[in-house]
Amino acid sequence: MTKVLVRPEMAGFKPYSPGLSIDEIKKRYGLARVIKMASNENPLGTSPVVLERLKNASPLAFRYAQAGSPALSERLGRHLGVPASCVVAGNGSDEIIDLLLRVVARPGVDNVVAFKPCFSIYDVQSRLCGVEFRQAPLNPDFSFPFDRLLSLVDENTALVFVTNPDNPSGHACPASDLAELAALLPERTLLVVDEAYVDFAAPLDVYSMLPHLGSIPNLVILRTFSKMYGLAGLRLGYGVMPEWLADLLLRVKLPFSVNILAEQAGLAALEDDIFVSETLRVVSEGRAMLERELSALGCKVWPSQANFLMFAPPMDARTLFEALLERGVIIRPLTSYGMPEKLRVSIGNEDENLEFLAKTAEVLRDNHRYS
Ligand SMILES: *Cc1c(COP(=O)(O)O)cnc(C)c1O
Repeated sequence: MTKVLVRPEMAGFKPYSPGLSIDEIKKRYGLARVIKMASNENPLGTSPVVLERLKNASPLAFRYAQAGSPALSERLGRHLGVPASCVVAGNGSDEIIDLLLRVVARPGVDNVVAFKPCFSIYDVQSRLCGVEFRQAPLNPDFSFPFDRLLSLVDENTALVFVTNPDNPSGHACPASDLAELAALLPERTLLVVDEAYVDFAAPLDVYSMLPHLGSIPNLVILRTFSKMYGLAGLRLGYGVMPEWLADLLLRVKLPFSVNILAEQAGLAALEDDIFVSETLRVVSEGRAMLERELSALGCKVWPSQANFLMFAPPMDARTLFEALLERGVIIRPLTSYGMPEKLRVSIGNEDENLEFLAKTAEVLRDNHRYS
């Protein structure tokens, strides 16, 4: 590489490793039909109410959105029962993660603490910010060892990230456990609870941190429209946080990172209760069915409160992953999470679930025969 001047953090910088795309796999294997169960997208696609709103709003594409998306913050505030001044919408919750790091963590001084394995954006953005990223290993059953997490926290810990329900395991802990954790953190340390999948956890009031918002001064909750609301490609997420922090994030955020169509889609999605209840039904039925059938095929399956399942197949996981790709089924290897023997599959619609199971059974059968 030429000797250009770049920041030392750039040396060997490893990017986020996303799920493979349908077009990529169609082209690679010359397939006409490919299904994707790799990125925890909504199995029902996009809500018809949102599609209608997008069509009607599309002539507005030439306009700048209103900076800071105040209409959406207002609507979300009403939806969640919190003041609009505590809500910051972003270009996916990824943007809120990045903003939090940049606003509160001092490069070269502060650290960020999370479990291992965890959602890799926390790590990638921390490294980019020149902030040390510390990880406490999860328990063998993927439950949360808070004492181990706390042992990594010191007065320079700017942020503690906990994903609940967790990705990639699907494990969830009661919100009251997280409230206890918050009370044990140093005063300046923010507890960021990433609730990307909380809509799928039941009962919601046991798992969501929202009721604790008023009593925990250092709490940030992250939510997204990417999963339950089916808007992953439009990029829309948000954080709920103390007003002083929301104010700081809005000052440094690029003003139009939430585009005008994403904002309209978000507003419409919050009106579509039928889509949400249908999604919940399809995901909980599909999850129960996949859990049962994968177990019957000899896989170890971890209990999940999210819209995906983590499992360990009774053969080499990479070989199964690649054999499924060749057959037009994309799931997620967990090598980048440090678990090469496990896989993650998003809950699909009924047809997708059956196709995934049939092809998995076929590969397992062939593998058994030839080994
Ligand atoms: C999918 C996901 C998100 C959401 O990301 P967006 O940027 O809102 O699409 C956040 N956290 C976790 C753990 C996720 O799995």
